[in-house]
Amino acid sequence: MNNHPKQAHVNLNELKNFQCPKCKGEEFTTVYYLKEVPAVLSRTGMKELLPVEFFKCMKCGFVTPIVKARR
Ligand SMILES: [Zn+2]
Repeated sequence: MNNHPKQAHVNLNELKNFQCPKCKGEEFTTVYYLKEVPAVLSRTGMKELLPVEFFKCMKCGFVTPIVKARR
């Protein structure tokens, strides 16, 4: 019996490539949107910029709405 939950170890060759919904491109680069955190909400008490990573299609420039998974 093997009731272990699925591990994060995946064979990359078995995963399909994410394709750009617009041009079917499979190559992406990382872009950052910088969220402005007002001073009243920041831990430091000063205005901060919070980087949020997105993937951008290298062919057509489409930015995926999927935030990069954090490790
Ligand atoms: Zn594209």
